[in-house]
Parts: sequence; C-alpha cells; structure tokens
Amino acid sequence: MMNVRLPISGLEVTLRQLRGVEDVLLAEATRCDTYLAVALLDKIARLANGAAMQWEILSVTDLDGLLLRIRQMVFGDRVRADTHCPAIGCNSKVEVAFSIEEYVDYYQPHPIVEVESAPESGWFQMKAVPIVFRLPTAADRIAIAFVPDPVRELRQCCIRPSDLSVQLLQQVEEAMEAIAPSLCNPLQGICPECGAAVEVYFDPQQFTLLELRQQAVSIYEEVHLLATQYQWTEAAILRLPRDRRRQYAERIRQQRRLA
Ligand SMILES: [Zn+2]
Repeated sequence: MMNVRLPISGLEVTLRQLRGVEDVLLAEATRCDTYLAVALLDKIARLANGAAMQWEILSVTDLDGLLLRIRQMVFGDRVRADTHCPAIGCNSKVEVAFSIEEYVDYYQPHPIVEVESAPESGWFQMKAVPIVFRLPTAADRIAIAFVPDPVRELRQCCIRPSDLSVQLLQQVEEAMEAIAPSLCNPLQGICPECGAAVEVYFDPQQFTLLELRQQAVSIYEEVHLLATQYQWTEAAILRLPRDRRRQYAERIRQQRRLA
C-alpha cells in the first residue's frame, strides 16, 4: 500500500499492490497507452476518503505522477533509462539513472500571478488578456491518440479562443507549464566512452506500463506452476499479491531443479 498526494488536484490517493488480475490486464493489453493506465488505476487506486473517482478527469501531470508512484511502489525509486550514444562511430550504451522522488520534486507546480481561476470549474483566466484555458486531462490524451494533429486538437480543447498568435499561445502554454509541469521530459546524460552529450526522452506512462508489462507476462507460467503444485484455482491465484505469487512460484522452481 502507498499513500500519494497528487501535486495538481491535491487529491489523496491510496495505491495497493498489483495482483494477478492486474498482471493479466497488462499482459493482454495491445498498447501501453492512457486507456490501459486508466484501466489499471480503476483496479489498484482509490481516493483516500473512499469517494468514487473517474481517473480520466485527472490532469496528465497528476496521471503521470501517479504512474511514477506505482513504478516506485513496485520496482523502487531508482529509474534507469538506457540509450545509445548518437556520436558517429561510437554507439556505446549510455545509462541515464535518476530518483523518482527527486524527479517529481523537481517538477513541482508553482502558482503564478498572471493567472487566476475562471468562473467555469477547472478553467483558468489569463489576467492581462481575454484568454481562458484548462489543463489537459487523461481523457484528452485518450481522445487525441489517433488524430492527425494532436497538438492542434489539444489546443482547441483546452484554450479559448484557440486561434491565438504565436506569442499569446506561448504565454498561455508557459502558464500551463507553471501550473502543471509536464513530467514527459528529455533527460541528459554523458557518454562514458566519448564524452558526448546524450539525451533520452522520458515518458512516465510509456516507461511504467512497459516495465510492468515485461514482468506481467510471467503470470501464465506462475499460474501454471501454482495450479499444478497446490491445485489452487486460477481465480484464487490471480487474487494473490504479485510478490507473494512470485515467491511461491520461485520455491516450486527451486524444488523442481533439485528433484
Ligand atoms: Zn559516445
């Protein structure tokens, strides 16, 4: 279990450990997208006050932050994003490592004086110009996943009026970034072989779901091991927390290696 306070909405969320049911969801999903992220939250996250929650309405910053907390709970705080050196003739492996705690702390929101709350719930008003905006949500991310110009589509959903000059658009987007900093960012590293600067793009949703999914695929073998060894039903095995299921499965493997 882990308790998390979301930086933008201030919601208090309780996360529980993944069980086999969630591993099946992850293993059988066709894409590591926001739809899967929301489906996972429906299963393992709840508001600390017990109220019902539609995770689609979370801002993308809160959604990505929550996914990073799930990653922290399951695999720990240290993230390693590996890439290859882009320098011509080098191509060495470069490890970019960081702490989730420090990353989330670095991208904390900071209120700005140029913006105030608009009358419409969830919307903000630029004080100096007649522009209102709201923060992109998980539902927006789902909606724009397959449109030809997602950036334009997102602006049309979130900014009124949406046909702004480049300068005004920049002002609004800077305000949005201050209120809800993006957690999708380039990370900098140095190639250990040639010293070249290396950049790797970090997307918390993609990273967390992929990592969870890589482990989730062992669910089929583990259900098979536990079912044949203990004659437990599939449903009973899928209700076990992931760590405990893996412990049992490992003991069965050890026993079979010794036999
Ligand atoms: Zn290099």
